[in-house]
Amino acid sequence: MKKGALHLLVLSHAFSVLSLKKACINQLERYFLSAENVVDILQIARLCDAPRLSLICTRMIIRDFKTVTQSEGWRVMRQASPSLEQELLESLVEEDTKRKERTNRLEEKKVYLQLHEAMEALVHICGDGCRTIGPRDQILKSSQAACRFPACKGIELLLRHFSACKVRVPGGCGSCKQIWQLLELHSRMCSTPETCKVPLCRHFKEKMQHLSRKEEAKWNLLVSKVLERKGTISSISERRKFSSLKSVGSCRIQSNSDLHY
Ligand SMILES: [Zn+2]
Ligand SMILES: [Zn+2]
Ligand SMILES: [Zn+2]
Repeated sequence: MKKGALHLLVLSHAFSVLSLKKACINQLERYFLSAENVVDILQIARLCDAPRLSLICTRMIIRDFKTVTQSEGWRVMRQASPSLEQELLESLVEEDTKRKERTNRLEEKKVYLQLHEAMEALVHICGDGCRTIGPRDQILKSSQAACRFPACKGIELLLRHFSACKVRVPGGCGSCKQIWQLLELHSRMCSTPETCKVPLCRHFKEKMQHLSRKEEAKWNLLVSKVLERKGTISSISERRKFSSLKSVGSCRIQSNSDLHY
């Protein structure tokens, strides 16, 4: 059956023996396809009106493109049917674009999730105080395992750096710029700036009122993407309200210059 399947497919199609045609297609799909013969089988599948087999062949060609294009079948097809070659090349480009878009979307989701985790860690550190890392006046334990907030340690390090850095944002310090942006994002998402202990929360809230529409739209989009990451989180303040941890220390500040952390 295996070897004759291709001929039988042509015959069963020509004489409309549907059950035999189905059996041949099944055999070809399951046992017969290879990089060497897939271009030939694709052309026969098209002639014999076998769309599923055609699709399987096309997918195989795209998946194993380099090897398939070295086959005799490909070489012959290029000369006999340039339009099919063009079609296959277009499918390849399309698939490649889709793959890149999928990767970009995944990367994007990862970034928003990291931002979401950073926002949670900020409130956790400044509001509750991290019990795993320890009080702020103590040296950060490098061997200490991370607490249940995955971004806690990283944010804690950034905050400590920010409070002690002499270069700061205007001087072009990369770490300070990073925490500055995270603090601004927090402020965007914070619904209780009056009582919030995250540094610069109120400062950014005031600054927001003077932003252009374009800037405003940019921030709103970012905030909605970050919120999307873990479903609709009610608000940062809700989380804090239900937290049983006691607040340690205060880091509420009015401006960057009087940051005490
Ligand atoms: Zn923590
Ligand atoms: Zn710095
Ligand atoms: Zn806040």
